[in-house]
Amino acid sequence: MTAEIDGARRRRGWSVRSRILASILVVAALGLAGAGATTFLVQRDRILHQIDDRLRAHVESARSVLQGPGSKSTGSTTVRAGAGSVPFTTTDEALEAVIARVLPTGDETSLGLIDGRPAYVPAVNIDCHIEDDPALVARIVAEVSDGSVRLGTVISPLGNLRYIAAPLTVKGSANSGIYVAAVDLDGELAQLTGSFVTFAGVALAALAAIGLVGWFVAGRLLRPIRQLRMTTSRITASERHERIPVAGRDDVSDLTATINDMLDRLDLAMTGQRQLLDDVRHELKTPITIVRGHLELLDDSNPAEVRATRALALDELDRMAGLIDDIESLAETSSASAARRPTDVADLTADVFAKAAGLPDHQWILAESAQRTLPLDSTRITQAWLQLVDNAAKYSPAGTKIVLGSTESLESTEFWVADTGPGIPPGSEERIFERFGRVDTGRGIRGSGLGLPIVKAIALAHGGRVSLVSSPLGSRFGIVIPHVDTEPTGEVDAP
Ligand code: ADP
Repeated sequence: MTAEIDGARRRRGWSVRSRILASILVVAALGLAGAGATTFLVQRDRILHQIDDRLRAHVESARSVLQGPGSKSTGSTTVRAGAGSVPFTTTDEALEAVIARVLPTGDETSLGLIDGRPAYVPAVNIDCHIEDDPALVARIVAEVSDGSVRLGTVISPLGNLRYIAAPLTVKGSANSGIYVAAVDLDGELAQLTGSFVTFAGVALAALAAIGLVGWFVAGRLLRPIRQLRMTTSRITASERHERIPVAGRDDVSDLTATINDMLDRLDLAMTGQRQLLDDVRHELKTPITIVRGHLELLDDSNPAEVRATRALALDELDRMAGLIDDIESLAETSSASAARRPTDVADLTADVFAKAAGLPDHQWILAESAQRTLPLDSTRITQAWLQLVDNAAKYSPAGTKIVLGSTESLESTEFWVADTGPGIPPGSEERIFERFGRVDTGRGIRGSGLGLPIVKAIALAHGGRVSLVSSPLGSRFGIVIPHVDTEPTGEVDAP
């Protein structure tokens, strides 16, 4: 069942490891693609600009050929032969000379058109012949029909071409000419495209390497969390002593230490619960055994014995009821945190003293009263203080003095009760604050052994502690509440 739930949980979505890896790969891929695309586009733009400059230079050269040595460029878009200095009399002659002298190199080609028809090709070995694409020739003729120089790009059966076309006419000649120069873009961009393909290959290899390394690193970093999950799922109520090994000093080790602390506290709480059950079972067994023993031996024909056994049984049942009340009170004070409100300590002291003074058989004296307001759960503090009062009355001889008071120091206020009873035997100071911890001072005096644990629980719920000063001449029990909240230590403050 658990395995099924685990399986379902695992199938629900991507693991953290996969998500980390996917994020790394997406970011790396975007970065590489961005860098590659930007470089490619910038380089391509630069090459295209260079090609345009070369094509324009061809037209400039053609113009120089036409105008003869020493002539200047007119700056006009149309190349015309100036009168007088012109060595050519017909457009045919001029175009032939231009095609013959302005020679294409590399991926370049050129063509001379007379009256819209291919007439002259360069006398060098070229791969691309513009005249082989009549559609392109027709397009160029149409484009320059307005007499302007045109730059254009065309995807033709000859390849991707960037071309320049300039009308060329010699004044007085009957024919019209066009000079065309073109560059095969595929050839010019081949090197860049090759570089980009290589870059793409390297980028893919880099992504694969990042993925591989990322997968192992993420796995390694998440290993403590995996271990944490495995260990915590192994820890059950019966097998709860295992702790997760803390390695390194990072967030994960902090988390591990926190979980270990939590497991410690859970362990302690469960041990306490089990201990309480054992104690209660043991404490309830005694009165039951006593009553049962008396009932078994009871001679029901003897009315006096029946009366005595009845009284004893009722007494034991009362004790059991008292015990159960104390257990309930202890459970309540241990689990609930104190509901603290600003409380006048002097009023509280006067209140508790008035209640104590009502108890018979002792002289009650109020020694001092602290004059301050403290955040307290006054009901609980009164309960704890009266428990100390009750113990003092219970364990010290009738007629003796019992002094109580509240004393304030710089850091804390103490609510205390001092008696002249037998005191606590040395070495038993801690034990009497444990559940059912009774010592010899209580010989012959009945009690549950839960009074002082309740006092201690109330002090702890206020972030305070219990105090005890004891000698054979008497005991002084106190509840110490700090003025500034502190972590409860659970210790008895005994000198
Ligand atoms: P109970 O009084 O029900 O036995 P407590 O937890 O109140 O349980 O007290 C635990 C033990 O501490 C008592 O049994 C008694 O032996 C001892 N004790 C408590 N208060 C005093 C006191 N004022 N003087 C002497 N012994 C005391």
